[in-house]
Amino acid sequence: MSCDFPLLVITFRAGEKPEFPADAKSIDYARQLDAQDKLKSFRDDFIIPTKASLKKRALNNSIPGENKLPNGECVNGVSQHEGNPSTDDDTQSIYFVGNSLGAQPKCIRTHLDAQLETWASIGVNGHFTSLQNSPLMAWQDMAADCAQQSLDLVGAASPSEVIYMNTLTVNLHLMMASFYRPTEKRHKIIAEWKPFPSDSYAIASQLQWHGLSPSTSLIEVHPDHPETPSSLSISTEHILSVIDEHADSTALLLLPGIQYYTGQLFDMARITAHARARGIPAVGWDLAHAAGNVELRLHDWGVDFAVWCTYKYLNAGPGAIAGVFVHERHHHHHHHHHANTNTNPESGGTAVDDTLGYRHRLAGWYGADKTVRFNMAKEFLPAAGAHGWQVSNPSAADLACVRAALGVFGRTSMRELRDKAVVLTGYLEWLLNGLVEDGVGTSMGRTEGEEGEPAFRIITPANPLERGSQLSLLLREGLLEKVSGKLAEGGVVCDARKPDVIRVAPVPLYCGFEDVWGFVEVFKRALEGA
Ligand SMILES: *Cc1c(COP(=O)(O)O)cnc(C)c1O
Repeated sequence: MSCDFPLLVITFRAGEKPEFPADAKSIDYARQLDAQDKLKSFRDDFIIPTKASLKKRALNNSIPGENKLPNGECVNGVSQHEGNPSTDDDTQSIYFVGNSLGAQPKCIRTHLDAQLETWASIGVNGHFTSLQNSPLMAWQDMAADCAQQSLDLVGAASPSEVIYMNTLTVNLHLMMASFYRPTEKRHKIIAEWKPFPSDSYAIASQLQWHGLSPSTSLIEVHPDHPETPSSLSISTEHILSVIDEHADSTALLLLPGIQYYTGQLFDMARITAHARARGIPAVGWDLAHAAGNVELRLHDWGVDFAVWCTYKYLNAGPGAIAGVFVHERHHHHHHHHHANTNTNPESGGTAVDDTLGYRHRLAGWYGADKTVRFNMAKEFLPAAGAHGWQVSNPSAADLACVRAALGVFGRTSMRELRDKAVVLTGYLEWLLNGLVEDGVGTSMGRTEGEEGEPAFRIITPANPLERGSQLSLLLREGLLEKVSGKLAEGGVVCDARKPDVIRVAPVPLYCGFEDVWGFVEVFKRALEGA
């Protein structure tokens, strides 16, 4: 990490926090940081909901922040706002919920239009033909094109390590079908204590599918201090010790790159290396909250597989087609059936099925090599690499959105985004800590005598190397509903998790320092009960 913001009096080195001077509490300081931000023009590539558009109750063919209709006609004044309860506030909202659904890149519309025109114009031939001037490849090649655009994003050594298909949980199932091969001796899955519910359901149902039970085969890594709700971090040392304890009986280690609730970023390099050194045959990562948020080097870290969705930090739209990484070491297949191919799970190596000549998977026609896909052969011959795990013909409209969204990342780098994010989230943390120091909201909802306890605590790790863009704020009991109501009124879009947590993510692509400043102002007023 470096520091591109000369205003920061004390620059910081890797693992250190950026520090801010006392006058950083002013809006002028926030604006000066924005002025120094090399990435600030990216905001113009996104549509940020406005306070007015958030109240929209009926389609009116208008795009927030544009006084133009999508077809280029000018909006004819007031009538465009008909049906809107509010027409007075066209300022952009403070959109801090990119960890849940990223804002819409403007190029999504042009890519979707290109897809619709292609389909309308050349019909079925769009599978194999790309029209001139189109930002899209032929439908057949779009998933591979998206893989090509993802090398920096996930740290893949080649496009064959990445594929876009299905959705996250479905991909988790498909990857577990291939990589979780329990034996009598080696049957455990090591996971964290509080996975995103979908991951919990996937893990439990996979165990049950194999006739196993979570009570004997699921090892949950708990926080170091599970009894302290304001400190739910899990130290790397603790994770490594659980790996050591269960190394001989574990078939799969499956963890999130970033824990969705606390925002903790795990040391994927060290944990993966340790698990592999201890002979655990498969290490998988759920990168739902890490992809597009932090730097990833999946190939170099030796990760066996990873899955991620594309609608959070990647901005491809709700439910858009998801990403998968399969490490190169699992790509080899033997077209001749060797008697002694490596099926030994103890090796932690490339478990290739004897009878198949490649790692077993739940197959479908799109996993077949492109050159033979339309031969309609009865025998399945998988395409090389991650592409061989595809099952179905993917939605071209969906891939158009992913391609558009990845194109935005292609104009910067994860390093640059991360450099900004460390300062942006650091500024948010610094301002929030200022509220705690000033005792803001200590008396809210309290009778006299109970005062003193801060109105909120940040439960995300303070070390920038242990978090991405998100900070999770644990509110004092009973404040959530009132505070989140006030935040919404103040034009903040963020995520409330019952009973007491607010998650805020200033995403560096389209959020700035003034947004951070504005959020803290609204939050402060909310806590003061104003
Ligand atoms: C967002 C998220 C999901 C969502 O899964 P879908 O299959 O895309 O609906 C799953 N797991 C985690 C950890 C998530 O953060």
